Order: sequence, then structure tokens, then C-alpha cells
Amino acid sequence: MAHPGDKTTVIIIAVVVCGVVLLVTIPIIWVVIRRRKSPKKIPADNDPNNVELDRVGSDADDGYQSLKLPYRRTSDHTYQGLKARSDIEDNELTSDETYEDVKTRSQFPRNQLKIKEELGHGDFGSVYKAEAWDILGRSGTTIVAAKELKDPAASTAFFKELAVLKLLGTHPNVVSFLGCCTDTEPYYLLLEFVSGGSLQSALRTSRTQQTYGNLHGGSKSLSPRDLTKFAWDVAKGMSFLSSKKILHRDLATRNVLVSADRTCKVSDFGFSREGDEYERTTKTRLPVRWMAPESLFHRKYTTKSDVWAFGVLLWEIVTLGATPYPGMSKREVMDGVQQGYRMRKPPHCDDRMYSLMMKCWSEQSFKRPGFPELERELDVLMEDEHDYIDLANFDENAYASLQTSREEKI
Ligand code: AMP
Repeated sequence: MAHPGDKTTVIIIAVVVCGVVLLVTIPIIWVVIRRRKSPKKIPADNDPNNVELDRVGSDADDGYQSLKLPYRRTSDHTYQGLKARSDIEDNELTSDETYEDVKTRSQFPRNQLKIKEELGHGDFGSVYKAEAWDILGRSGTTIVAAKELKDPAASTAFFKELAVLKLLGTHPNVVSFLGCCTDTEPYYLLLEFVSGGSLQSALRTSRTQQTYGNLHGGSKSLSPRDLTKFAWDVAKGMSFLSSKKILHRDLATRNVLVSADRTCKVSDFGFSREGDEYERTTKTRLPVRWMAPESLFHRKYTTKSDVWAFGVLLWEIVTLGATPYPGMSKREVMDGVQQGYRMRKPPHCDDRMYSLMMKCWSEQSFKRPGFPELERELDVLMEDEHDYIDLANFDENAYASLQTSREEKI
């Protein structure tokens, strides 16, 4: 029979052991619960407030910049992408399976396509002028632009552009999609052929014409009204895209083409995405000078960040194709934009036109106008007899920064 003292000792020992166990386990359980609830710690060099410019060669001052991207948070929005797969990383979309539907529809018979001369060089490879027979029910030959996928590393971007193009529909201010040849290599995207080259080169070419007038006939010089019309055309094209919930994400004069009758058409959907909002996840080269603060520092893209870029495009039009933020490095542009710096009013630009730019550059994206509003405002300027851009007082030397465009592609 146990002695009453032994029983007390056993009870004391049991209580002490239980106490120790509780003391050890409670903090462990607390730590585990906290870890599950709280987001992962952001590594210092991936902090969204700590975006760094990557080292790029000195010859890469081209409108784009590689960024060390911030740590990727789980997306808190619904990305209505191709397959509504918000969980897919950009570089995961290479699989043939994901794009099987995109690849098989809109196929154009390769034997009805005749590739002619090269028109330019883009993100994936060369763009050729080509003849297409009986394309989209048009009998006979149609001149098209054929974008070839040359670099296999660019196949994701190529098929993304194809996917966005197929959603487009047609609008006079957006380059039309006509079909694709993606059954076997070489792969081609077939687009409406736009003969006048990029808006950026049209603006820059017009500088010399501006200086020397119409001496040699067939002048490419542009009138203030032409310039306002370009801005209006782009606003109409972007209005259409935004109504389709397509984000361009790389709107700039280098990505707008000009037709023979001087109609601007928004082009180059290599960067575009479908949806109301998009969160950048991968490391990529970025058009820093055209980017809104929320895209630069929080990787967030909405139609309103396209509106910011439209404001920069307006500035490019007014300065006949100058490089935005003249004299500033991309690092300085990023710091400046973060601190509220905005490009000054070019002296030959009317207050009303400049106030449109400034509205596009509102810090808070909801204060920026939408594209339909921009379209209406520019329509009103078009109706007016007044010149909103006074080319007679354009000082070419003040806007001499013209970085070349071939490397402006990623
Ligand atoms: P991108 O890959 O869209 O940047 O195109 C590269 C270059 O090819 C452009 O700068 C144009 O010179 C030319 N290009 C692209 N698309 C077309 C088109 N639809 N019509 C005529 N030229 C084009």
C-alpha cells in the first residue's frame, strides 16, 4: 500500500511535468499558427519599395529597362486571362497544351502565303511584307505583315500576342489580326499591313521636313492638326482596347503604326494581357519612361496605367518623337516619378493639351481620365480651329534626345 507522502510526491511530479510540457508546447503552437497566417517575409532586395535597376550594357538605353522584381505576392485579384489562370507565371505559358486552342484556330494555309521583304525587327524576330491569297474571304492577293517567331526563347510572348490578337476584333485605330501559320515552323502571325512605319519614326522624320519645308515635294512635314489627330486616333484605338478589357502595357509612339492616309493604329501586343488588372510576376525588360508609379513600384497594371503611358505618348507627339525625360537616366526617372516629378510643359504646347498630359500623370490612378474621356477631349480639340501645338515655335535643340529604336525592343 502506498504511503500518503508518496502519493503527494507523484501528484507534484505530474503537475510539474504537465506544466513544463505546456510551457514548451504553447509557444511552439503559437509560432506555427503565426507562420501559417502571416505572409512570407519579403527578402530585402525584393521589397517592392526597393526596386533596383539591373546592370544593363551602356548601349541598352533604349526605352526598356530590366528590373529586379519584387517578391511575388499571391494575386489578390481575378486575372481574367486566357484560361483565367491567375496562378500561372509568365514563363510557364510556353506549353503547347496551354495554347493548343490558340494555335489551331485562325490557321492560314502556308502554301497561300508568299514572304517578301523584311519590314522591321520585333520582339520575336523579323516582320516581313507578304502576299496572302484568299485571306479572310478576300479573293485574290492581300498584302499583309507576317511576324515570324525566330527566337525560340520568345515563343511565350509570341503565343501571348497571338492570344490577345484573337480577342481583338476590328477597329480602324488598331492593327487587325488576319490569321496565323503555327502548324509547323517557321511560325507567323499575319497582320494588316500598315505602310507608313511607326509613329515615332514619322514624328522624327517630320523634324527635318519641318526645318526644310516642302522644297522637295511630297513632304512628310506634319501640321499641328495632324499631331492632334494622331493623339485622337490613338485615344480611339485605346478606348476600343479598354472596352475589350485588354491592357496594352507598352503604349508608346514606337508601337503605333501610321497608314498611308495618316491614320494611327495601335500595334505590338507582345506585352498585352486580357483582364481588368495584371500583376507582373517575372523578370523582364520594362519601358520605364512610359510606366506609371504603381507599375514601376508595385507591378500593378490597369487601364489607368495605360492612360499614364498615353500621357507620355502625348508628350512624344508634341516634341516630335523626343525621348521622354530628356537628360535623365532611367534611375533618375524612377526616383523622380516616385517623388512626384512630372515633365514640364514644352513651351510650344498649349495649356489645354498639357493639362491632358498632367491628368494622365495623376499620382492616384482613379484620378486619371479614362480613354473614352480622352477621346472626347481630343475630339473637341480637333473641332477647334486653334493649334494646340505651335510648331513654328518648336525648338528642336531642346528636345534633341532621340534614342534609336532598333534596340527599343526587348
Ligand atoms: P513589332 O514586333 O510589332 O515591334 O514590329 C517591328 C517592326 O516591324 C515595326 O517597327 C514596323 O516597322 C514593322 N511592322 C510591324 N507590324 C507591322 C504591320 N502590321 N505593318 C507594317 N509594318 C509592321
